[in-house]
Amino acid sequence: MIENHLPTAELQALDAAHHMHPFTDGDALNKKGARIITRAKGVWLTDSEGNEILDGMAGLWCMNIGYGREELAEVAARQMRQLPFYNTFFQTSHIPAIALAKKLAELAPGNLNHVFFNGSGSDSNDTNIRMVRHYWNVKEQPERTVIISRWNGYHGSTIGAASLGGMKGMHKQGGLPIPDIVHIDQPDWWSEGGDMTPEEFGLARAQELEAKILEVGPEKVAAFIGEPIQGAGGVIVAPETYWPEIQRIVKKYGILLIADEVICGFGRTGNWFGCQTLGIEPDIMTVAKGLTSGYIPMGASIVSDEVAKVINAGDEFAHGYTYSGHPVAAAVALENLRILEEDGVIDRVRSEIAPYLKAKWESLSDHPMVGEAKIVGMMGSIALTPNKAKRAAFAAKSGTIGLITRERCFANNLVMRHVGDRMIISPPLTITKAEIDELMVRARKSLDEAY
Ligand code: PLP
Repeated sequence: MIENHLPTAELQALDAAHHMHPFTDGDALNKKGARIITRAKGVWLTDSEGNEILDGMAGLWCMNIGYGREELAEVAARQMRQLPFYNTFFQTSHIPAIALAKKLAELAPGNLNHVFFNGSGSDSNDTNIRMVRHYWNVKEQPERTVIISRWNGYHGSTIGAASLGGMKGMHKQGGLPIPDIVHIDQPDWWSEGGDMTPEEFGLARAQELEAKILEVGPEKVAAFIGEPIQGAGGVIVAPETYWPEIQRIVKKYGILLIADEVICGFGRTGNWFGCQTLGIEPDIMTVAKGLTSGYIPMGASIVSDEVAKVINAGDEFAHGYTYSGHPVAAAVALENLRILEEDGVIDRVRSEIAPYLKAKWESLSDHPMVGEAKIVGMMGSIALTPNKAKRAAFAAKSGTIGLITRERCFANNLVMRHVGDRMIISPPLTITKAEIDELMVRARKSLDEAY
């Protein structure tokens, strides 16, 4: 272990001198100094100053079983001793990858029985781009290259995944999107629904998919990708009319449906996968994060019998990563899945913890600054507003009040994220009721201070 042997100020100075952080304004951070996390247990983080911080975000939506599970450390050490690495290229395999692929095929819904391993969520979505285009090549429809996704969706940071994503700020920074990726609007009723009812709006936004398919030309469309619930976009829960209509449209035009389950997978929504909670039937699922509960990086594309049959029938799929199916990651993932299953973590979420959290979370809507309060399973958001009836946005630059609220949470030793003027939670699935009560006390206090 790397000991925390330096004073915080020195660690911060070294961090500022040498460490470039993801999704961070470097100058602003370097002036202030990073908060340095030194250890964690359950839902609690400890920083270099000895503060105990309640992690309302499960790291980055990934710590599903909570911090500090010895079993995962032991499995990793055992696997490192026995076989720390071997690749799965060129007609070789190993037992952890075989066992994990079998387990994922059992857990995944429908006929999603085949697993292509990747290193993260981003590169899993890059795999998906290449796989669906290759799929249509093998099916002798090579003109089907276009993938449709959504504005304000998030699918990762590689150039392919960021192109699929609909984060306009990301697109601005580097010539995105790559060719043949097009976007439709998101189903965010609170911000964009105008005078429509949520049901009308959900239908209208889903029908944008059909309009886009017709605009592009149905014979050119390869796939549609969406998160069952948009996570990084602000925990946007689509109205109930949305996904059934999307499902109807993809079936009508015979295009592949990719569910990006990087956040929604492995219990976050109260079932193993978000598509089970929302009644979506994908051809491909992207998974990462909760697959290993963040203890070690790993991602995967889980594909249907039909997709695998076509890919296997074609020329060699010229794609893969050194760490595809990494044995240590696979062993850790298997142990994580065992804990989720045998400890009854997801059953407890569904029957007990998620309903408890939902009641508490929705009660925030009595706060003068809180409009919509949404929560599905263990992912929730509140929209901050100066006028609930009008679903108004704050006049100041979007995100200002969100940032202020996040800073107040930070000061109150609660990690809550802001996306624009939405505040988000996604705690470890193992959080207790007493810890939820504590989370709510700190969240409300932070809202009061920001108001
Ligand atoms: N897809 C979704 C839905 C995500 O939320 C994320 C990350 O937050 C990704 C993909 C990218 O995953 P990673 O950061 O592991 O590359």
